[in-house]
Amino acid sequence: MCNLTGEYEGIFGSISKIFINENVLHPEYVPKKYPHRRDHLLELGNVMKNFLINEKALPVKVVLLGPPGTGKTMVARKFGEVIRDINKTRRGLHRPVDFVIINCFIFKSPFSIYREIARGLGLSIPRRGFSKEEVLKLIVNRLESQNKALILALDEADFLTRGQKVEVFYDLARLVEVYYKRPPRISLIFIMRNPLSILNLDGAIKSTLFHYVIKFKPYRKAEIIDILWARIEEGAMYPSAVDDVIMDMIGELVGHDKGGNGDARMALEILFMAGKRAERLGRNAVTPEDVRESFSMVTPFPRNLLEYLEDHEILLLLALVRLLKSNEFVNWVTTGALEDMYVEICDEYGIDPRGHTMVWEYIQRMKDMGILKATPTSRGKGRTTEISLPGVPLNVLENELLRILRQRFLKKVK
Ligand code: ADP
Ligand code: MG
Repeated sequence: MCNLTGEYEGIFGSISKIFINENVLHPEYVPKKYPHRRDHLLELGNVMKNFLINEKALPVKVVLLGPPGTGKTMVARKFGEVIRDINKTRRGLHRPVDFVIINCFIFKSPFSIYREIARGLGLSIPRRGFSKEEVLKLIVNRLESQNKALILALDEADFLTRGQKVEVFYDLARLVEVYYKRPPRISLIFIMRNPLSILNLDGAIKSTLFHYVIKFKPYRKAEIIDILWARIEEGAMYPSAVDDVIMDMIGELVGHDKGGNGDARMALEILFMAGKRAERLGRNAVTPEDVRESFSMVTPFPRNLLEYLEDHEILLLLALVRLLKSNEFVNWVTTGALEDMYVEICDEYGIDPRGHTMVWEYIQRMKDMGILKATPTSRGKGRTTEISLPGVPLNVLENELLRILRQRFLKKVK
């Protein structure tokens, strides 16, 4: 840490009396300790074991299923670490195994998903000039020429169940079943949050892909507290900066048995923000008020996902914010009204609006991401869908959307 004195003293703030290493609380950090998920990791290991050690074993398809923040991605990443580790010693493996994890939300088309898988195997494929089929072939050739197996984890696989990306299920099923009858080379881990998205798939895919489901439940208060203390032990904060009262409070707010959503990400974020507040106020310990204040700022709204939305999704969200702002007594709008406002906003930005089917598709996608809520109702005449936002202040969201639009459209003008 830099320690400036004299004129520049304090320009980066003083040395923290709260955090030792705040990265340990970052959502992307893969923790060394993962209380209450060891059994899930063992179960995954058990399901995959035969595929790893027995050349003739069938490929495995397994689903990790549970609501956000229940440790699914973390367990998959941990499993990837285990695979890399045993690869080093090759103990018990009959051939080397690669592990690749892809976020199906970030990669928008089947092609970009396959390109990313190829990249994970060390192949670099240009954006243009190859078909989807060719990329799949290259992946196959690569595994064969290196005599390797692959465990492929598809994170946020809910986004594969609708629209064009459904192809990925068919392609992968084919890849697993046909190309690799003898010997099987690819096993799949699907990470999903919504059991209903599995039901959306057609019967054949459902039955071939989903042999095995490992369920992740929302964390209870006591589990949340264990997870938080484990991060302190891993060096996130000075142990003296927090105590049982603080951990108990966060557990109470987030614990599923206490009416919270059981989301570990949220618990970690509250602790992080409470620590930041204490630091800002020059204290050497977190107080209950820091926790209360942070909790009021941490919403389940996935703000970090906004950057990944398409332009039209941002415009649609802006339309929603405008409508909700214009009527302070109602917290939902109908799809019809939303579409009208969206067309108006496109007009302002000089952009051609997308048609009804696409708009519906955007709404479903943002619903899957937890960015908005869409509830079918039969109020008044006929059926419609009510669209609303989860707890996020409209002004905050509007500013964020306008900032993103400014950034993107400036880039396009250049
Ligand atoms: P999901 O993929 O189910 O939405 P994640 O695996 O991303 O959830 O977990 C959310 C956050 O909480 C991550 O930062 C993760 O490291 C942490 N986390 C979740 N479960 C545990 C656990 N049992 N122990 C330690 N950290 C956890
Ligand atoms: Mg996840």
